[in-house]
Amino acid sequence: MPSANGRDQGFRWRRADDDGGQPSLFSDEELFDRHVGIGEYRGLEFLHVNAKRIINPVPPQSRMGFRYTINAYRGCSHACSYCFARPTHDYLGLGIGEDFERKLVVKINAVEKLKAELRSPKWEGDLIAMGTNTDPYQRAEGKYHLTRGIVQALGDARNPFSILTKGTLILRDLDVLTAAAQRTDVRCAFSIGTLDEAVWRATEPGTPHPRRRVEAVRRLNVAGIPTGVLVAPIIPGWSDRVEQLEEVTEACLDAGATSVTPIALHLRPGVKEHFLAFVDRCNPDLGAGLRARYGGRAYLLRDDQKAVTAPVHEVLRRR
Ligand code: SF4
Repeated sequence: MPSANGRDQGFRWRRADDDGGQPSLFSDEELFDRHVGIGEYRGLEFLHVNAKRIINPVPPQSRMGFRYTINAYRGCSHACSYCFARPTHDYLGLGIGEDFERKLVVKINAVEKLKAELRSPKWEGDLIAMGTNTDPYQRAEGKYHLTRGIVQALGDARNPFSILTKGTLILRDLDVLTAAAQRTDVRCAFSIGTLDEAVWRATEPGTPHPRRRVEAVRRLNVAGIPTGVLVAPIIPGWSDRVEQLEEVTEACLDAGATSVTPIALHLRPGVKEHFLAFVDRCNPDLGAGLRARYGGRAYLLRDDQKAVTAPVHEVLRRR
């Protein structure tokens, strides 16, 4: 039975570092329902909230290429072991491990809230980025259709937007995406870090097969939605062999990707401990090397980053 509020579930809602750093406040009253997934959603639990706002400003100090984001969900069933967004679940009093992958916060009022915010005279029509903190086309979207409603609302308002995803469910929305693209600037990007089957299965167990993502890149571009690829994350020692990076880069270019950008693994505090513990269980030979290369940092040293991303740049130069 769904409960009327989250208090008896032991959730504590507080100011959270959502959407790249800006705060969002959730209170007990806003968590109004929970649903246990059945059928294809078995194993997932959906926590329904009413968000106070849906367009979130990015902190001014951010070096992101956008100023506003929308994330209709928190948590992500794509379950990538390296996911940088895991700590956002900690702010909700939930765990950054399995809870992040299975207890998904659903901003039930996202579409209606967005329409109201787009109508506000204060809104100046800036580009809005989706997929910055959780995947807008994760499995929950098959049930709730919030991203679809958001795409429609943004298209109707002629408001430019971008989508970053690993979810081939985006193809369900080709109709509304192409309609939006006729009215405003729409850009998509897929994250495809590797086509290596073993690495994919181990590190991104809830995501569509990377070759299906490559096919989605092709279909979106054919439909007139400019779609690029982030070859990300490249995991040093696991998915950074030259032949691995050549394979994924060639495939994305063959699919018509409008850009191919390599990004080495980033391990922010909290995620780093989670990911290294996962590596110790899953690929123990890798742990010592990763610890040495990252040291106390979230990033590889600059020269190491250059070396790791070089094979992708080399293919781009050749083509
Ligand atoms: S798809 Fe993105 S948001 Fe979802 S778990 Fe993977 S990295 Fe995190």
